[in-house]
Amino acid sequence: MKKTKSIKFSLFLIIIVTLFTASCTGRATQKDQLVLDPISESKLLLGTVCRITIYEDDHTHLFAKSFSRIEQIEDLMSRTKPMSEISLINESSGSGEIITLSDDTYLVLIEALDVARRSTGLFDPTIGPLVDAWGIGTDGHRIPEQDEIDRLLALVDYSRIDLQEDHKTVNLPVKGMALDLGAIAKGYAADEVRSILTEAKIESAIINLGGNILTVGKKPDGSSFRIGIQDPLSDRGEYLGIVSIQDKAVVTSGVYERFFIQDNKRYHHIIDTRTGYPVESSLLSVSIIADDSFIADALSTAAFVAGVEKGLQLIDSYPGVEAIFITEENEIILTSGISDDTIPFELLDESYTIITAGN
Ligand code: AMP
Ligand code: MG
Repeated sequence: MKKTKSIKFSLFLIIIVTLFTASCTGRATQKDQLVLDPISESKLLLGTVCRITIYEDDHTHLFAKSFSRIEQIEDLMSRTKPMSEISLINESSGSGEIITLSDDTYLVLIEALDVARRSTGLFDPTIGPLVDAWGIGTDGHRIPEQDEIDRLLALVDYSRIDLQEDHKTVNLPVKGMALDLGAIAKGYAADEVRSILTEAKIESAIINLGGNILTVGKKPDGSSFRIGIQDPLSDRGEYLGIVSIQDKAVVTSGVYERFFIQDNKRYHHIIDTRTGYPVESSLLSVSIIADDSFIADALSTAAFVAGVEKGLQLIDSYPGVEAIFITEENEIILTSGISDDTIPFELLDESYTIITAGN
């Protein structure tokens, strides 16, 4: 039951991406060879549906290899598996125990800390205690009392993580501190799957980890992959636009992903580190388009917390990273690389107004 919502949503995304991609491909000829229809496989991992689509034949063994790599990452970074590396680190908070990190967790933590610094703590991998208290996306979701929020907010502080880079060790110095890499782990896993596919010389594929989409190459007919951007206030699968990409990631953070509604108010899963409450702003979603899914995942969450103005500044400091902000005022704010058509964006819903950031 816990993951029903995100699983339903992920399934939905998968169907849509498949429709967009499969319908455009069919069978085509390329260099006098028959190009086969895509082959996909899905598996429930990282709390979501992970689907890999390869546009070539005879590569089914790559699915097993890819899924076992994702499983490895889940075994390290899951917050629901009691023996995961992250669970063990959290369990030992305040005990003085120093834990040696795997290379994967170390890399993800280093990147998370970098984004935390650059977002002045709006993105914070020590958000764990608040994520647990709110329980959003679980059967135990609730609105915590203000004094509980205040107490837990005091535990959220990435600068207190004692990370020894030379030894790759970590220690959380205060009891109750907890790492949560949920905003970045799927992005990392997608990039790792891409490495497996590209090492095997795959030239055309889609890695979709619960809506974190990473495309490898272009479609066999030479066209770009067309990825739908969800209308945040409509039913799943109602898209307000489509981005056309090659060799890029599209990752979205939004109010519709995991939430509950109480007294007509929506409580979603992205927590504002200033208030301890789910972020309240005019923003409904942020999609990031970048070369790597890892950074796109971290930045979509960070920019969502930061809001339009600060979020745009943050994205500006990452060369080659583009964004689509969608607001309650029916505005779609695009960074320059999208509005100048370097990354084409097709508007499907005319009730939205497109604004170019900085103008
Ligand atoms: P995403 O869907 O990638 O935006 O990630 C959302 C997840 O990131 C949540 O479910 C939490 O596990 C975690 N999270 C929530 N708020 C924050 C925050 N302010 N900084 C970092 N991670 C967060
Ligand atoms: Mg994210």
